[in-house]
Amino acid sequence: MPKKVEQTLGITVKKSDFAEWYPEVIQKAELADYSPVKGCMIIRPNAYAIWQKVQEYFNPVMHRIGVKNAYFPLFVPESFFKREAKHAEGFSPEVAWIANKSSDEERVAVRPTSETIIADSFAKWTRSWRDLPLKINQWANVVRWETNQTRLFLRTREFLWQEGHCIYATEDECEKDVLLVLDEYVKLAKDLLAIPSIPGQKTEKEKFAGAKKTFTFEGLMPDGRALQLGTSHNLGQGFMEAFNVKFIGNDEQEHVPWYNSWGISTRLIGAAVMLHADDKGMVMPPRVAPVQAVIVPILFTDSKDAVLQEAKHLKTELEAHHIRAHLDDREEYSPGWKFNQWELQGVPVRIEIGPKDLQHKQCVLARRDKGTKETASLLNAKDRVKTLLDEIHQNLYDTAKRFLDGNRVEASSMDDLIKHIKERKMVLAPFCGSATCEDHIKEKTEGATSRCIPFDKKASGVCVQCGKPATSMTYFAKAY
Ligand SMILES: [Zn+2]
Repeated sequence: MPKKVEQTLGITVKKSDFAEWYPEVIQKAELADYSPVKGCMIIRPNAYAIWQKVQEYFNPVMHRIGVKNAYFPLFVPESFFKREAKHAEGFSPEVAWIANKSSDEERVAVRPTSETIIADSFAKWTRSWRDLPLKINQWANVVRWETNQTRLFLRTREFLWQEGHCIYATEDECEKDVLLVLDEYVKLAKDLLAIPSIPGQKTEKEKFAGAKKTFTFEGLMPDGRALQLGTSHNLGQGFMEAFNVKFIGNDEQEHVPWYNSWGISTRLIGAAVMLHADDKGMVMPPRVAPVQAVIVPILFTDSKDAVLQEAKHLKTELEAHHIRAHLDDREEYSPGWKFNQWELQGVPVRIEIGPKDLQHKQCVLARRDKGTKETASLLNAKDRVKTLLDEIHQNLYDTAKRFLDGNRVEASSMDDLIKHIKERKMVLAPFCGSATCEDHIKEKTEGATSRCIPFDKKASGVCVQCGKPATSMTYFAKAY
C-alpha cells in the first residue's frame, strides 16, 4: 500500500457561528483566498468555474436582447467624473486614483463603474436614429477602494462583474429593457444558483449615483441580513447630456437618447455560499458545480482492476449525458478521506463503487445536500444522477425560499419595525419615500436601510416615521 498523506481539513466552526464560518468555508472549499493586498481576493478555480457558468448562461440572454460584448479601458480621465455631478459625488469616496504619472497628463481613475467612459464613446458612435438602440456589455473588473470592512465575495476592493450599457431613442424602450434585464437576473439567480430573491425599486436615497430610477433584486442571508444581488438602472438623460450624446430623429430634429446600465457581480458566489453551504463545507448548486458527480472507487488489491474499469466506463457514460464527472482514482488517499474532501468542496453527487457493488451491477449515490444514500443499477446510474441533480437544485432553492418567506414580515408602526429588525427579519413597512425619514429609520433601528419597493404591494397606511400618507410599501433590513 502507498503511504497515506492524509490530514484533517474539515470545517472547524458551525454555520451558527456565521461570521467565522463563512470565510472558513470559502478558504477550505478552495473557492477563494486572501491576497497580499488588503481588501482584495484571489478567486480560485472552484469559484471561477461558477463565474464562467454565469457567463455561459447570461451571454445568450444578452444576445437575445441584442446586447453585444465589448471592452473599455480600466482607466477613466478625472475630467469625466466631474461632468455628471451626482455620479461624481456618489463615487468620489471610493475611487482609486493613479498618482504616479508624468505631470502634463490628466489624472486617471481606476474604473469603479464605466458610465462616463462609455457615454463618451456613445457620443462618437451616435449620429442618427438609425444608430439606436446601441447595446453594449462588458465582462470586467472594477475597483472600489473600500474603507469599510471587506468580506470575501461580498465586499472587496476589486471584483468581477458584467456591466451592460444601452442607449435608446425613447424612454419607453429604455425602461422596458431595464425591467427585462432585472427579470432575467432574478431568473438567473433562481435557475442557475438556486437563490430566491425579491425584485423591486430602490428608494430615492438608495438609488445609483446619477440614475433616474434604480431597480434591484435582494436576497436574505441566513444571519438575517439582506444582500443586494444586482441592479438595473434607468439613467434617464443626465449622462447623455453631460457627454453631449445626441441623435437626429426621423423628424429631422436633434434629440438626446435615454440610457440604462445594469450589472451582476461575483458577489452572487458569496450569496450561494451563505445560503447553501453547511457545517461540512460548500454545497455547490448543481448547475454551476465544476464537478457535478465524483466517482470514488473502493479499491482492494484483488478487485482493483475490475472496479476501476467499471468506474472509468461510468465516467464516460456520465460525460456522454453532459454530466460533469470526475473519477477520483488516487491511491494515496482512503475512500473516507476522499468523501470528506469532496463534501467540503460541495460536489452534489458522490458515486461509490466497490467489488460488492460490481457483483450486484450497482453503485451507491450519495447526495451532498441531504446526506442521503441510495443504490442505482449501473445501467440506470447516468439517468438517476441527471434527475438527482435537478432534485438537489430544487431542494436548495426550496429551502432558501422557505427561509426568505419565513423571515419577511409586515410592520405598521415604528415600534413594530424596530422589534422585527431586532429579530433579524426583512420588514415591509409603509413609507413616504423621503430621505430624511430613511435616515431616522436607520438611526432608530440601529442600522436598517431600505432594500426595495416590491412590485406586488400597493401603498397603504401612513409612513412609520413621519405619519404622512405612504407612497409605497418598502422593505427595510440590515444589509451587507
Ligand atoms: Zn416619512
